[in-house]
Amino acid sequence: MQLKGFLIVLSGPSGAGKNTLMNAVFPTVPNLQYSVSVTTRAPREGEIEGVDYFFRSDEEFDEMIRTGGLLEWAEFCGSRYGTPKSFVDDAIAQGRTVIMDVDIQGASQIRRKMPDAVSIFLLPPTWDDLKKRLVDRGKDPQEAISQRLQKSFEEMRHMIDYDYFIINDQLELAADRLRTIINAEWCRVQRVNLDELQELWKGRKQL
Ligand code: ADP
Ligand code: 5GP
Repeated sequence: MQLKGFLIVLSGPSGAGKNTLMNAVFPTVPNLQYSVSVTTRAPREGEIEGVDYFFRSDEEFDEMIRTGGLLEWAEFCGSRYGTPKSFVDDAIAQGRTVIMDVDIQGASQIRRKMPDAVSIFLLPPTWDDLKKRLVDRGKDPQEAISQRLQKSFEEMRHMIDYDYFIINDQLELAADRLRTIINAEWCRVQRVNLDELQELWKGRKQL
């Protein structure tokens, strides 16, 4: 029986470890697909086009909005970020678990458009850890780090709007928590098409 896939929205302050956590679970969760976002921000050192982001100009981003190509989009610290719609629709129709990293504005748009999306808020153990992770990552200029730390207070207040939270203390523990949520979500009865299930059972009543 083919189950319909679903969307996982992962948010949390920049530097909380969203990308690190997703990379940790990919090898052990079959059928999990990352939705690569489009952004107008400049690539960080080491970031790869089409893997980390699709890096686009403001004009190209405007065009994607105009033609309805984005499922959601938002401005964050002076750049725009958005989710290509067709990729998400296709992957869900094929029964995949799609995971996306979006800010609190994007998560709120997704909740309205796709009420069965599962939302998770990732927290660093402490604010000092967040600061240290952003500084040690060493890929943002000082001003961008300050902006992101400032933004984290506002973001934390929105944690209450999410279905789950994960504290990213030890990476392996956090990865276990994420795998547990994904497994439990696949077991929800609403993922089953009852008509299809009954069809499969027809004529098999006798032992
Ligand atoms: P985000 O995607 O949320 O912006 P990253 O995944 O880039 O965050 O992680 C930010 C930094 O924190 C990286 O340098 C990463 O190696 C580090 N990091 C992530 N998770 C942990 C953890 N559990 N313990 C220690 N450092 C971590
Ligand atoms: P960064 O510049 O650190 O990669 O990302 C900055 C913020 O943009 C993060 O909070 C991240 O979750 C968010 N973000 C990344 N991709 C998207 C997206 O497609 N849509 C929205 N709304 N936010 C995104």
